[in-house]
Amino acid sequence: MRISHLSAEVTPFAKSGGLGDVAGALPKAQAELGHDVAVWMPLYREVWEAMRKRGGEPEVACEPFSVGAQQVGILRTKLPDSEVPLFLIGADEYFNRPHLYSTAATGEDDGIVRYALFVRAAMAAMHRLWNAPEILHAHDWHAALAPMAVAWDRPRDWIFQNTATVLTIHNLAYQGIYPRRLFPVLGLPPDALPQADWDGAVNLMKGGIVAADAITAVSPTFAREILTPDGAFGLDPILRSRRGDLIGIVNGIDPLVWNPAVDPKIEVHYDASTVARKLENRRALLASCGMNPDERGMVVGIIGRLTHQKGFDLLFPVLGDLVGAGIRFVMLGSGERELERQMHRYSNISGGRFWGFVGFQDDLAHRIEAGADAFLMPSRFEPCGLNQLYSLAYGTPPIVRRVGGLADTVVPYDGTNRENATGFAFDAATPQALRDTVLWAQRCYHDPALWTQLALNGMRQDFSWKHSAELYVGVYNAVRRGKGVGTNLP
Ligand code: ADP
Repeated sequence: MRISHLSAEVTPFAKSGGLGDVAGALPKAQAELGHDVAVWMPLYREVWEAMRKRGGEPEVACEPFSVGAQQVGILRTKLPDSEVPLFLIGADEYFNRPHLYSTAATGEDDGIVRYALFVRAAMAAMHRLWNAPEILHAHDWHAALAPMAVAWDRPRDWIFQNTATVLTIHNLAYQGIYPRRLFPVLGLPPDALPQADWDGAVNLMKGGIVAADAITAVSPTFAREILTPDGAFGLDPILRSRRGDLIGIVNGIDPLVWNPAVDPKIEVHYDASTVARKLENRRALLASCGMNPDERGMVVGIIGRLTHQKGFDLLFPVLGDLVGAGIRFVMLGSGERELERQMHRYSNISGGRFWGFVGFQDDLAHRIEAGADAFLMPSRFEPCGLNQLYSLAYGTPPIVRRVGGLADTVVPYDGTNRENATGFAFDAATPQALRDTVLWAQRCYHDPALWTQLALNGMRQDFSWKHSAELYVGVYNAVRRGKGVGTNLP
């Protein structure tokens, strides 16, 4: 099958979170299944920097052309360790900016213009390259114009006559909401406005949900949560109306990138048969943080975007209790100013028991996964979550809130299920619940045989992309036959 993925992030070229990791790995897994896969993304400044670091020049894919008043150039490179083409949409005014999601020089949020240009230019380039996909797979609101364009453009570009569309929701907290006066930017016929409108504004995610042939969410629990008012950020009525076309598919992990047996970013390689070597990574991590590498006692790793979603604010009120109990913390994150301030503050007052690094540092993320004893993810909501999967793969049992993909991927230890448990979980989004569960994990940590078993149970899970990639192909086959896909919802 010919499949084209459209994503605002693709690891290792540009990434702010899990979306990039998925768009960088799923297409490769589908290519390994024998499909003809391509990926499209904007040519951000960050992408130039990533290409420079990796070496190798991108090729020009086709002559520059214009989309409305904007001139665009299309370059072509490959996803690493694969033959999967990555097409880059170049338009300096919109993509050559300091950060992925930078606003315009005026400070205005021109995301609708940027991502409409991305999608329109990608679709125009598919036409020019005679590359008509059978499946156009859009990721999140940035690419959601693609299913709308295929469904509602008049006339529809003939090259998409046999194209079916899939929209994957990675995060519903970001929907791409803009004033109705900007609707013409999308290039859709005027009578499509009511379909893209939600609550008096253009809502790109909503339009994509209405238009796509199938909608996928990044875990079965998240797919159920977004049918309810609590989990859908206002879009539950729309999602309920598409229930028969919605399915949850959990993310996999890229075995060449997140694998302690081959990870070039960690001190010492290890696998389930040599897990004792993980201690070398622990020592290296602690030494690099200025902490005593020989001190026993649980070290908890934390990595993530500093947003309300991730629930890190639940930690700070009980950090004193946990540090007082002998637990140390190594945290990496960037985002909201107030949370960054808290990280600095606790780094200063914890007497070296809490080490917080504010910034985005991929190498450090790998070293934390390999070096920490346990990994904390107290998310308020979590569509899938990748860090808990990485920590399972690295033998670093995760301590999570039982929501979304965290509920689907971590088997909490309850004192009786050491045969199959892989981590710890709590339900209430409160500092007390977090504290009690971290303390419970600490008691288990002091039983080395139990702890090793939990770590090994996690390391032996199969989180490769193969299975999920097959499930996506099942969705593609269903939509091409005109069938619904909603198979794992109540
Ligand atoms: P989300 O997509 O909501 O950000 P995920 O757990 O699905 O959460 O994916 C997060 C990804 O981003 C992981 O690969 C994680 O290591 C990475 N990440 C998040 N914050 C940072 C950071 N400050 N430095 C390095 N990597 C980070």
